[in-house]
Amino acid sequence: MKIGFLGLGKMGAAIAINLVKAGNEVTVWNRSATKARPLTQAGALLADTPRAAAAGNAVVVTMLADDAALDSIVAGEQGLAAGLARGALHISMSTIAVATAERHAAEHQARGQRFLSAPVFGRPEAAAAGKLTVVAAGDPGDVESCAPLFDAIGQRVFNVGSLPSSANLVKLCGNFMILSAIETLAEAMTLAEKGGVPKATLLEVMTGSLFDAPVFHNYGRALVEGRFRPAGFAAPLGLKDMRLAGQSADSLRVPMPLLGVLRDHLLQTLANEGEEIDWSGIGLTIAKNGGL
Ligand code: NAP
Repeated sequence: MKIGFLGLGKMGAAIAINLVKAGNEVTVWNRSATKARPLTQAGALLADTPRAAAAGNAVVVTMLADDAALDSIVAGEQGLAAGLARGALHISMSTIAVATAERHAAEHQARGQRFLSAPVFGRPEAAAAGKLTVVAAGDPGDVESCAPLFDAIGQRVFNVGSLPSSANLVKLCGNFMILSAIETLAEAMTLAEKGGVPKATLLEVMTGSLFDAPVFHNYGRALVEGRFRPAGFAAPLGLKDMRLAGQSADSLRVPMPLLGVLRDHLLQTLANEGEEIDWSGIGLTIAKNGGL
């Protein structure tokens, strides 16, 4: 498959290299071109504009930090939309707002182009191992035709409907649930530790019985080891996701009081620890609040 790939950050670089390894002809673009070097060494071609990365490809994947980054690379004379052929497909993997996905879907449709949302669960290590969970939504035929692409980067694909933005809503709900689990772990560990039970002991009991799920195992270990730097998922991106989940909650009139607590703990963590900390660094804030 001929694929254009835009956005070579922690996630994008790992995903793109798996697409190259799977035998696809991949053309990459990144704002900071130096990050493309491992990709070109692996056999990818380098484009000098988003437009050039899209031109001549049946499929173009974007994996950018946020909504503003996606908007800026799609629009304009040198943008992705200007290069994408009629009938070609844009797969957006970034975690973005539901409203942003709806807007991009409509704009591509107006140009005779196609659009899928396919955000992912899994951190950069999972992306490198080709073990992401892909949540796809859009035209069922498009989701099906992308199966080889999704298989190269993930271990499981969920098709959550024909409206692309449904996938973005699932992703935002999922990130809210992950951060809630981190908050739960950190509060309980602080209580246990202050009462004289090591947090590793609490984690062993809970993940060995009632809480035997990847999110508790993986983030539990990070909290026990105090492993918050370098960030796999940076706290500012987590804050963005809580904001986007809140936008959906506002527009759908769904009260989410826990979302406010999580957002405040992320803000407190960023204020105290700086921008480079992982979002699980809220564990530091919760431990300090508990007097540890
Ligand atoms: P990252 O390492 O910070 O990479 C962000 C990417 O966006 C880089 O390619 C960056 O380009 C680009 N970018 C940022 N602002 C831009 C702008 N104004 N114009 C053009 N390009 C811009 O982030 P990441 O961790 O890979 O995350 C990427 C997306 O995946 C985010 O939506 C995130 O929420 C989501 N996600 C992350 C994880 C995770 O564990 N990290 C897991 C699942 C989903 P430069 O290289 O030039 O800065």
